[in-house]
Amino acid sequence: MDLPGLRRDSFTLLREEMRWRVAVVLSSLISVLMVVLGSINTHLGIADNAVLAWIVLVIALACLLGLVKLPKHQGGTLFFVTIALLLVGVMAYGSYFGRSMQHWAYIFPPVLVFLLRAGPALAAMVAYGVYASLMVAPLVEPIAVVRFASAYGLLVCFMYTYALLQEQAAVMLRYHSDHDALSNCLNRRTFNEAMEQLAGSRSSAQSCTFLLIDIDHFKAINDRHGHLVGDRIITQVAAELGRVLDPGTPLFRYGGEEFAVMLADAGPDAGAHLAERLRDAVARGDFQGVDVTVSIGVAHWHRSGDTVSVAVDQADQALYVAKGAGRNCISLFPAAPSAAS
Ligand code: GH3
Ligand code: MG
Ligand code: MG
Repeated sequence: MDLPGLRRDSFTLLREEMRWRVAVVLSSLISVLMVVLGSINTHLGIADNAVLAWIVLVIALACLLGLVKLPKHQGGTLFFVTIALLLVGVMAYGSYFGRSMQHWAYIFPPVLVFLLRAGPALAAMVAYGVYASLMVAPLVEPIAVVRFASAYGLLVCFMYTYALLQEQAAVMLRYHSDHDALSNCLNRRTFNEAMEQLAGSRSSAQSCTFLLIDIDHFKAINDRHGHLVGDRIITQVAAELGRVLDPGTPLFRYGGEEFAVMLADAGPDAGAHLAERLRDAVARGDFQGVDVTVSIGVAHWHRSGDTVSVAVDQADQALYVAKGAGRNCISLFPAAPSAAS
């Protein structure tokens, strides 16, 4: 279950923050390095290399300014795109002045890992390797091109493997940080994040209907059948609810034996209709000898009205009304509960 249109999660924000920090450190290091290289080349009288160092220095300083002034994700992207383009330009510069610049090429693969997913990064690394080999080939012995291509090829293999591992580890980490281990639903932290994003100006959703779903007399189920059976029932109820929901509709484990559904851009009637289908699915479910029912509170939020947390509180009040009406029923805020059919 995913969060369509609601996602720019804390994991993405952390990644952007880390990438920004790396970019700041690298652009500072490059600036210092270019001052040193520019001075040495000037001292040795290698004018074209000195000019190149001063050009890179200006670019690194401009990137540093961009990193400070722009939003972090834009600044980070700008830095790594600039360095990638610079490395393309350096090869052409070297070719023009008759100097082999293959030592610069080794920087390209690690730069791409910060910009692209592993697959496209691999294609770009290989393309750049071919380009760099063609640029240096007229300037050095054939054996030097072979040495460069071998070393560069090995570097690409290592960087690609690293990028792939990173990508898969990120997917796994994100899954575990977003999901509840017992029910496999999205967890409360993700619910809070989705609420913040819904309320934020970046969200395109104008309204949302909240469903709060609570297993009836769950304490008695635990007491009678034991906590392990209680755990199994939480998992099974989540599965029953998930079967009714569209694949794109997020289901959260809101608390111990409580679940929540967020229906972006759906009206209260659609919410009540879905709530009744969910209640019915659980009431008809096979829980291996245990009678399990749920009560559901429904409330609607609109961007022009109260805050999102007020709507969640209203769904909680509606749930309370459903409990008071005898359980195994749904209640729509602020109307009265509707009895189970
Ligand atoms: P009501 O119909 O009013 O909701 O009654 P209830 O008994 O379901 O509600 P109550 O809040 O009194 O009890 C909820 C119980 O759920 C208490 C708690 O021990 C149990 N519970 C919470 N999380 C878990 C869990 O992860 N596993 C198990 N087995 N029990 C849990
Ligand atoms: Mg409860
Ligand atoms: Mg309960």
